[in-house]
Amino acid sequence: MQDCIFCKIVNKEIPAEVVYENETVLVFKDIHPAAPVHLLLIPKKHIPTFFDMEEEDIKLLGDIQMAAAEVGKKLGLQKGFRLISNCNQDAGQLVFHIHYHLMAGRPLHWPPG
Ligand code: 5GP
Repeated sequence: MQDCIFCKIVNKEIPAEVVYENETVLVFKDIHPAAPVHLLLIPKKHIPTFFDMEEEDIKLLGDIQMAAAEVGKKLGLQKGFRLISNCNQDAGQLVFHIHYHLMAGRPLHWPPG
């Protein structure tokens, strides 16, 4: 999608520190990290929110979770990480391209604020 910052990262039109990539998923460092490890996991396909998903997109969510496990292993995060996604304004979604935050490297409190 033309005006989507994450689509631009997928298309290499703007730079990002990519840590993992496969056919359907891209994982890169958050530009404003809120934890020692703070990554964003996105489907390469532009889907604004979970409300916009179609039946054919279900596999993408599994792909993202598999990518999280791959990255977790690669970065030695066996002690744990948090995978969280903000959907729409009340949750604080700022970028309207589905993404999961993977956070680790410090104690993560629950519930999040
Ligand atoms: P949201 O609030 O939508 O769940 O989170 C969006 C995240 O995207 C924020 O943590 C923000 O720091 C990150 N972000 C926004 N623009 C960019 C960018 O251009 N590059 C990278 N790497 N991260 C971004």
